[in-house]
Amino acid sequence: MTDEIIPVASSFSGSDMGAERYKARYARSVEEPEAFWREELARLDWIKRPEKISDVSFNRDDFRIRWFEDGILNVSVNCIDRHLETRANKPALIWEGDHPAHHHAITYRQLHDHVCRFANVLKMLGVKKGDRVTLYMPMIPQAVFAMLACTRIGAVHSVVFGGFSPEALSGRINDCQSEFVITADQGVRGGKAIPLKDNVDEALKSAPGVKRVLCVKHTGANVHWEEGRDYWYHDLSIQVDAHCAPEPMGAEDPLFILYTSGSTGKPKGVLHTTGGYLLWAAMTHALTFDAKEDDIFWCTADIGWVTGHSYIVYGPLANGATSLMFEGVPTWPDASRFWEVIEKHKVSVFYTAPTAIRALMRLGDDPVTKHDRSSLRLLGTVGEPINPEAWRWYHKTVGNGHCPIVDTWWQTETGGHLITPLPGAHGLKPGSASFPMFGVQPALVDNDGKRLPDSGAATGNLVLLGSWPGQMRTVYGDDQRFFDTYFSTYPGYYFTGDGARRDEDGYWWITGRVDDVLNVSGHRLGTAEIESALVLHPDVAEAAVVGYPHDIKGQGVWCYVTLNEGVEAGETLEKALKDQVRKEIGPVASPDVIQFTPGLPKTRSGKIMRRILRKIAENELGSLGDTSTLADPGVVQSLIDGRVKAS
Ligand code: ATP
Ligand code: MG
Repeated sequence: MTDEIIPVASSFSGSDMGAERYKARYARSVEEPEAFWREELARLDWIKRPEKISDVSFNRDDFRIRWFEDGILNVSVNCIDRHLETRANKPALIWEGDHPAHHHAITYRQLHDHVCRFANVLKMLGVKKGDRVTLYMPMIPQAVFAMLACTRIGAVHSVVFGGFSPEALSGRINDCQSEFVITADQGVRGGKAIPLKDNVDEALKSAPGVKRVLCVKHTGANVHWEEGRDYWYHDLSIQVDAHCAPEPMGAEDPLFILYTSGSTGKPKGVLHTTGGYLLWAAMTHALTFDAKEDDIFWCTADIGWVTGHSYIVYGPLANGATSLMFEGVPTWPDASRFWEVIEKHKVSVFYTAPTAIRALMRLGDDPVTKHDRSSLRLLGTVGEPINPEAWRWYHKTVGNGHCPIVDTWWQTETGGHLITPLPGAHGLKPGSASFPMFGVQPALVDNDGKRLPDSGAATGNLVLLGSWPGQMRTVYGDDQRFFDTYFSTYPGYYFTGDGARRDEDGYWWITGRVDDVLNVSGHRLGTAEIESALVLHPDVAEAAVVGYPHDIKGQGVWCYVTLNEGVEAGETLEKALKDQVRKEIGPVASPDVIQFTPGLPKTRSGKIMRRILRKIAENELGSLGDTSTLADPGVVQSLIDGRVKAS
């Protein structure tokens, strides 16, 4: 839609990754992968440096994905011990609590002691190498201690987002047969308490395999206690030593399980392994964010999502960075919270989601501009396509026009960034994820699986040729589902499930999930593009577009639109929005139905659950599917009610 290029900011002089260096290094990564990865191995400390680089086949008969197979390492050593010589007193974590008065830093030395103690407590409770440990934690440092403690002793963590219901929690505990749960008495977000321990008690009624619950005291609330099953962390931690020998782990030993956000169906237990994942997290954190020794790096995700795993914990800590961890929400105590935190802690790199940017943009510029953001040098986004309108606001208002934005496309399955601009290397196009990371080979196929040309403009289904170290290794306990989901649609390729467009300059644009690409009168239209056109209108806060069966066109365009506060829906506005889409994209994309709605169904990670919107548009109200991962299930009824008026 827009092919305006924002040049590499001349003020962005810090990076040594110019366009030429990117090209040369990328070429080496795909033409001489053995040599490339042998060089990259130096990012980690290995107990035994691997000789074998990779062993991969995406074919059904001899399917396998292995990286650095004979390497031996320990993740916690890479994230902590190896930094102690030069960075013992550097903050590893800066914790900003829900309440603005609560914040403190934890140095690498302190992190070492906390993690060793935590690891020894886990051992005391009987946790052994290979055991699955479920974490259901608020955003407090102990959550990071617990994750790293698991890696220290070779246990496999499964972090379940603290906002999930008891049902969602028990489902995830049972799926990986976890016998240990780590939680806290309560979490706090936006001034409200979240009854984590109560939820665990409820979940365990239908997860009878759990033997031990370790509870961290956070708010001090009274909680139900089951003797013999429940243990306070603070009781046990004083009984153990602050040293714990790290377990040597094979590079292909499981590191963690993480369930996908469930936007498209039943969540999958994505399994990542030790060596490849850590190297990918470290490399992408270093390159995408142009990591510098004195950066204050803030990723606003929750550790319950892969973004939190890779860019709050593993990437930054493997690189010896300072990572900010935030317990609260962007709008409490007021709409300035993000910017207040940036000013307070002099954040230099800020990484958040388009959904948060859109929500904050709606509240105007004042909450942003009243805080000093001069410490910022780089901004990032993840999770969804970012519409150019929001991109520009982020760039201009938040970043004062001088911070590059890295729009990082990746998935839980990919462990880290796959397509993203690298700061200093490319001019930026608002809304484009730009270019592949080293070692990543994106390609397009049509619906029959035919490869589209590798140069020039093209639109199709996004696949990847070959593997990269951070690729997931299986769906936990279900190799078949892994193969079927990702490798059977287009044999020989990894299928991302996303649609994409490559423009004449070679920039990649993610058009949304393939299920969300519409075929209107024979034209392929990305829902993301239509949504961008709708939100360009000053009265529109958010929009979601789905297709529905249409007698003449094949598929019709159904738009769910949320308006800014105080704006009244009406026929004039409806017409204005239709005109806007015709003007921006063309008459073929013209909306058939505009349904105004007070809210959209979103997952807990802020993603729009389009499959529900699709079912409602199709009038398939009886088969809405799993809605357990919705942030606000109530919104579904208001959508159903609103349907009648719209159609
Ligand atoms: P599930 O797989 O359970 O349906 P999910 O796909 O939402 O859930 P994630 O792994 O968290 O789970 O999200 C990855 C998806 O998010 C990508 O496949 C893509 O559709 C979208 N996405 C992530 N980052 C970007 C981005 N920068 N631009 C466009 N889309 C993005
Ligand atoms: Mg997905």
